[in-house]
Amino acid sequence: MLISNRVKNLHPYVPGEQPKDRVYVKLNANENPYPPCPQVSAALSDFINKSPEKLGLYPDPDSLKLHAAIADMLNKTGGVLSRCSISPDGEVSPAPEDKLPFTVTPDMIYSGNGSDEVLSFVFYAFFDSGKSFVMPEFTYSFYPVYAGFYDIPMDTVPLKEDWSLNVDEMLSRASKNKGGIIFANPNAPTGLSLSRAQVRDMLLKADKDEIFIVDEAYVDFGGESCIPLLNEFKNLLIVRTFSKSLCGAGQRLGYIVASPELVNIVTTVKNSVNHFPIDALAQVSGKAACDNPAYYVECAKKVCQARDSFYNFLKTSGFYVVKSDTNFLFVKHPQISGEELYKAVKQEGILIRHFNTPGIEEFVRITVGTQEQMQALKEVFEKILRSR
Ligand SMILES: *Cc1c(COP(=O)(O)O)cnc(C)c1O
Repeated sequence: MLISNRVKNLHPYVPGEQPKDRVYVKLNANENPYPPCPQVSAALSDFINKSPEKLGLYPDPDSLKLHAAIADMLNKTGGVLSRCSISPDGEVSPAPEDKLPFTVTPDMIYSGNGSDEVLSFVFYAFFDSGKSFVMPEFTYSFYPVYAGFYDIPMDTVPLKEDWSLNVDEMLSRASKNKGGIIFANPNAPTGLSLSRAQVRDMLLKADKDEIFIVDEAYVDFGGESCIPLLNEFKNLLIVRTFSKSLCGAGQRLGYIVASPELVNIVTTVKNSVNHFPIDALAQVSGKAACDNPAYYVECAKKVCQARDSFYNFLKTSGFYVVKSDTNFLFVKHPQISGEELYKAVKQEGILIRHFNTPGIEEFVRITVGTQEQMQALKEVFEKILRSR
């Protein structure tokens, strides 16, 4: 037959809808409501206007300037933007407890076309078809897609009653399977996170020869980064993205922070598929973003404020809300189904995310937008509640 058996068995990821029929307020894909900093636009326009010939040349295969800029940003921020402080002259410094105990160097960074692509290479590099890797039952829904794509068996561990990770069960299964661990911290779609001390405790108990992957897509909104643990645990690999806290979902840029040895392994995988990295424009815009962390610290703080005030509104209005260290809220109402809520909000011109997944179908996931967008959503919720 025309189509391979491999392709017949694929179950691709379904992203948050992007309708074209009407302009909606998009609170369904955890994008950042703010544009990148002005220096990103300036760097892109300089690149195009002053050196258009570079568009005709291959990009730097090692993305050296970008990796140096990412490392520099992590050293300045400690890896959690929302907890940084900014001095009057615009210098960013990490919260004292986030200060890194070592310097992140550019050879500890790998970058790719969104952390989705990075994750796909990581799955290929470190998980094996003979051994199940461990992940939480509800987490980033792309992980099972990669497991299917690469034919890697997975062992999913149910969350606890309060939606937190069942750490003990994950560790005990991992020690049996010997196939590695992955989870998002903070987790999606719940928004809950483990502290750095809790992850360290897991790493101490886990097998040092198995990969331990932490996806920190949302950590800049108030979680605790595991970057400070990298010099202690050589099996730890951290995946991060420009799509959420760095206002860059459109440029498709994600990265790894890990030991140079692990970075080299992923690079080998990537070079076996595509020997060029992200495009020249993404290298330029990514560097400009990293060079201006103060702007993104402010964006992250604004998002956290809007999140916390919306959380309080939901709580006082009778919703069940999971505490969030991210730029989204995982929410349900005791009398209104997730689907009903999603549809009623959509009618008013706002998109939120509803998952048809058994176990979480009563919930909606609401991305935190600007104060104004959250005010609009609040009015919509009040209207829905009044009409019942
Ligand atoms: C959004 C998200 C990603 C993917 O980010 P991209 O860099 O846009 O591909 C990865 N992991 C988690 C947990 C996410 O929520």
